[in-house]
Amino acid sequence: MSENKNLEGLAPVFGDMPKDEFRQFGHELIDWISDYFEKIEELPVLSQIEPGDLKAQLPTSPPEKGEPMESIIADLDRLIVPALTHWSHPSFFAYFATSTSAPGIFGELLSAAFDAKAMLWRTSPASTELEEVMLDWLRQMMGLDAGLSGIIYDTASVSSMHAIAAARESTEQRIREEGMSGRKDLPLLRVYASDQAHSSIDKGIITLGLGQRALRKIPSDGEFRMDANALAAAVQEDKDNGAIPFCVVATVGTTSTSSIDPVPAIAGICERHKLWLHIDAAYAGSAAVVPELREILEGCDRADSLAVNPHKWLFTPFDLSVLYCRHMDLLRRAFALVPEYLRTPEQEKVRSGSDYGVQLGRRFRALKLWMIIRYFGHDGLAARIREHCRLAKLFASWVEESPAWELMAPVPLGLVCFRACRELDAPDETTRNARLDVLNEAVMHGVNATGSALLSHTRLNDKITLRLSIGNIRTTEKHVRQVWELLNQQLKLLSPGYR
Ligand code: PLP
Repeated sequence: MSENKNLEGLAPVFGDMPKDEFRQFGHELIDWISDYFEKIEELPVLSQIEPGDLKAQLPTSPPEKGEPMESIIADLDRLIVPALTHWSHPSFFAYFATSTSAPGIFGELLSAAFDAKAMLWRTSPASTELEEVMLDWLRQMMGLDAGLSGIIYDTASVSSMHAIAAARESTEQRIREEGMSGRKDLPLLRVYASDQAHSSIDKGIITLGLGQRALRKIPSDGEFRMDANALAAAVQEDKDNGAIPFCVVATVGTTSTSSIDPVPAIAGICERHKLWLHIDAAYAGSAAVVPELREILEGCDRADSLAVNPHKWLFTPFDLSVLYCRHMDLLRRAFALVPEYLRTPEQEKVRSGSDYGVQLGRRFRALKLWMIIRYFGHDGLAARIREHCRLAKLFASWVEESPAWELMAPVPLGLVCFRACRELDAPDETTRNARLDVLNEAVMHGVNATGSALLSHTRLNDKITLRLSIGNIRTTEKHVRQVWELLNQQLKLLSPGYR
């Protein structure tokens, strides 16, 4: 028993875990994590529990006395692991496949140990200054211009909401001071995004009190990219009707298909009408660290702000989203508020993170980015993303070669949209499509139920479409071949006439 433990061998009466116990269990937990990664392929990707199963196994009230770490760690295996959907599994192909990485895990561990609240420069100079430098490193790796500085938030939803708030501040409508409700002098403020934009844009607009009617959805073309001519017409129409267009959100890497909006054309419209251009590059932005893929950000040097999520495709454990902004002064004007208890002598000379958003305390997220970029290097990060794109193209080539499957969208990066399309006996096209929807959903659920891989879906041109996203650091060609086999097995099972 440790020198510092109480009589039952549990936590001491006061103070933290004794240091020898911390060291012992710290080592054990790192071993536990190593074992978890080693055996992860034996685990079902999708949690196999039924809703409520975990809750039913947990005590309904907290323990009166502390419990030994041994039993807490044992319960990780018994209770928590079965209730996990394993995002770190190499055959996780759903949503946007993402992954943590060893240096990222170390960064999180240290960040928890430091427990810094990076609200003012002085409450954590390390996080404040490391953040500025990391964002500059990432900016250089992505080939973005030096006019952009940035700030780290938790998610892209929050990054984009802050960008729209800064854009609203640029309208000089005194919304920070006067608000929007009950104002007869304030016309409808308009934001534009394509019908493929992520729902976080809608949510940001709701949160900012602009109201859903403020968001005008612009139709996209046959390849799911915003129709720039339709945008120009919509802006003009709104202006003619007395509304105030103020912001356009273009997406580089849409959620359903990873399509890339025509940013140069959209930037031209924004410049003509003096609109804030925000780029949602939450998913695809990381791909710009691959030099030959930088062209996906063409035109983004004309944007006012850009959101990118290292927690999506830069091997960074959740969460870490970056907002780059050309007008940090406007972001600051929208949010800075320094009560007496936060005033510091150096405040005029330094940057304080809390001035740039709704949060006061901020996690030390830059630390994990520092460890990841230093450990893998720019070349190492680019090589992994390049390989993911190669694997996506390889999978897409199998789809294209097979008469039983069809591609549903171009494959610019690491996402493949496809569906089973074998001839079905149907009296008309509508019935055929309805039957194919049922078949494709059944194929997806069949694959997912095996536990060997996980896919997700979307709806494109009113057709159920399967999505295979490759973004996990552990995914190799073997895993992509396995999921292709699984898909074909399921299709055979569900439609025996399949060739
Ligand atoms: N924007 C795009 C294009 C996305 O694909 C997603 C999530 O997949 C988001 C925003 C939201 O990301 P977050 O979970 O970081 O808010």
